[in-house]
Amino acid sequence: MISTPIPYGCQHITEEDIQAVISTLKSDYLTQGPKIREFETKFAEYVGARYAVAVNNATAGLHLAATALNVNSGNKIIVTPMTFAASANCIRYCGGEVVFCDIDKDTYLMDIHKLEAMLRAAPRGTYKGILPVDFAGYPLDLEKFRRLADEYGLWIIEDACHAPGGYFTDSKGEQQYCGNGHFADCAVFSFHPVKHIATGEGGMVTTNSKELYDKLCLYRTHGITKDAALLHEHHGGWYYEMHELGYNYRLTDFQAALGISQLGRAKAGLDHRHEIVKRYNEAFFGIDGIKPPFNAADAYHAYHLYIIQVDDRSGLYNYLHENKIYAQVHYAPLHLMPYYQQLGNRKGDLPIVEEYYEHCLSLPMYPTLTDEEQEYVINKVIEYIKK
Ligand SMILES: *Cc1c(COP(=O)(O)O)cnc(C)c1O
Repeated sequence: MISTPIPYGCQHITEEDIQAVISTLKSDYLTQGPKIREFETKFAEYVGARYAVAVNNATAGLHLAATALNVNSGNKIIVTPMTFAASANCIRYCGGEVVFCDIDKDTYLMDIHKLEAMLRAAPRGTYKGILPVDFAGYPLDLEKFRRLADEYGLWIIEDACHAPGGYFTDSKGEQQYCGNGHFADCAVFSFHPVKHIATGEGGMVTTNSKELYDKLCLYRTHGITKDAALLHEHHGGWYYEMHELGYNYRLTDFQAALGISQLGRAKAGLDHRHEIVKRYNEAFFGIDGIKPPFNAADAYHAYHLYIIQVDDRSGLYNYLHENKIYAQVHYAPLHLMPYYQQLGNRKGDLPIVEEYYEHCLSLPMYPTLTDEEQEYVINKVIEYIKK
């Protein structure tokens, strides 16, 4: 059955999810209860990280990560321009300066060769950190990024919002899951409804560093601690102290309950995404005028997005919309947003990402997309291309 309009992404809420939320609503805790810790533990296990900190959205999570890594005014951080605005904004919240590095023309990830050239060209100490993205779900080879980061004394925040469950294969042949904390200092995930796991609003920060974990927890709740070992004074059982200027970036317990329930289906959801990819690839490979996504054999792509490139992207976008297929563009390059242009970035600065933007289109990709719906999408795309 085909139900239109067909969006590019969509959450999947089951009866089991609804019951999980209801039972938490009937419990003693709406926030800061046992579901948060359970969600953190299970999520950390899912991605293979030591610690996980649940937050109210990934934008807050990115801000926490940048804060915990001491980003402040004058610090220059290298960010990919092919991402959602939040990836760079978190640096600006802390007063840091965003310097963009162009993408690879096939993977659309931050181009490590361009990154290396930028680092070599600048005096040592110019940059403090790098913030690449597992864009569309394609896992970054973070072993290579780490080697470079270590050489130049940089930290890494991995924006893994598109990639829970994805992994790359390292030089020893081991599978390194996105956000497992093995190479990046912190990684950030989103539970916005279009992402793999939905909690309404929600996010998670993962790390393998106890020191960063403690800071993330502290900044999540106003910089307040009740830990007796840390208190400067001891007034009694009621007493707490505020040690840093923190925030309220907490997730609620009923959202965590939804997240736990969704996490239970995350692997099956990924498998389903791969079936959808297989059908798209079979339909599009070999068709003149369509460039399907690049897939490295030794990486497991999480396919948040299935992106094709075509000559006449705007024409195809309009044609699909006329046929009630709401394909989407990810994204207009961040350095060309008026806000970032006003900070000195210009059209022409990053030719690869600017060229990519002219041709990219994200086709519908979500686990509840039916075979018939996908067939309809494929037919409409090919119909337009062959016109
Ligand atoms: C969705 C997304 C974010 C922001 O997530 P929110 O949970 O909506 O704050 C950040 N970075 C990337 C790459 C995203 O896709």
